[in-house]
Amino acid sequence: MQVVSADEHELRAELVREFCELVRVDSEPYEEAELADVVEENLLELGFEVERDDAGKKIGGNSGNLIARLPEAQCSREKPILLCAHLDRVPPGKGVKPRLKGDRIVSSGDTVLGADDVAGLVAILAGVRMARRVQSVLPPLEVVITVCEEKGLQGSRHLDYSKLQSKTGFVFDAARPVGVVIYGAPTHVKFEVDVIGRAAHAGINPEDGVSAIQTAAGAITRIPFGWVDDDTTANIGTVTGGEAMNIVCERVHLVGEVRSHDDRVAARVLKQIEDCFAEEARKSGAKAEFEASTLYKSYRIDENSEALRLLRHAIGSVGRNMTLELSNGGTDANQFNANGIESVGLGIGFEQAHSTRESITVEELVAATKLASCLILRS
Ligand SMILES: [Zn+2]
Repeated sequence: MQVVSADEHELRAELVREFCELVRVDSEPYEEAELADVVEENLLELGFEVERDDAGKKIGGNSGNLIARLPEAQCSREKPILLCAHLDRVPPGKGVKPRLKGDRIVSSGDTVLGADDVAGLVAILAGVRMARRVQSVLPPLEVVITVCEEKGLQGSRHLDYSKLQSKTGFVFDAARPVGVVIYGAPTHVKFEVDVIGRAAHAGINPEDGVSAIQTAAGAITRIPFGWVDDDTTANIGTVTGGEAMNIVCERVHLVGEVRSHDDRVAARVLKQIEDCFAEEARKSGAKAEFEASTLYKSYRIDENSEALRLLRHAIGSVGRNMTLELSNGGTDANQFNANGIESVGLGIGFEQAHSTRESITVEELVAATKLASCLILRS
């Protein structure tokens, strides 16, 4: 049995209460305003200056990102750090009814729990509160709470970086235990291909047609799928097209992706995919239009970086071991790194994210909060 002190007992109750309050507020992507209001109020109460940028307008959502900082006059003289979490959660994420099952918080089973990323919000808010109890004057701190992270990091992509001073950032948003640090993540490129053939009657004059489906199939069988090498994956996720059984298919639209920790490999694989479609189109007399867009760029943090130096210390203070891991998914850390803020992702203990089985233990929620507090205090 776990023995906890009275203080610890109170802390656990406080964090569970705060967590449940926040997950009960609906916050699917593009609809984060209500939760943004609640978090903004919390930040103001904690003494932050808070502004909301215009990212919401740019991406068609009802809220921008929150950018908060402790007033400079009230801070000690050190370099600022940035803490980040996101407001949105994947569907089904409305009407979340959290329940405590032993030490574990779960949803009622028909929605996600929203620990991704409410656990990050709680860790930061409660972490500031905890740090304040230890020390009234804190080192400089910036907090960024993003929208639309789950939609290709759109919030952090449209964040107004001119408002930030930090050169070191910590993103509280990884489905790993507290202590795990995501020190690198891949470049993620989306590609779309339109294969355009020629329609004809499939039974009367098929010889006049050029089948876009057959042309696309020729390319699909040749391009790489899955793991291309240890650092690179490729996929085609959707194929749509065709009008009817009796028409030689004129048009097929394909959407796929390439991820790689090595930008040169990503570029090479994309070129290979583009070339396959172009060659097959040439052979059949169809046309292939290929378009690629980079959703976010890779990052890899150096062992001697300030971020890892601070973390080594803070994670030790929480009584955990620091474990460095690479991820094959993107987080807001990708965008921060691309904008000159050296940032890592942090495990905060939620499990089975993006499913109705999502959960988090109170123990991890407590550890994530203590980690935030230690980072804030640089202790
Ligand atoms: Zn997340």
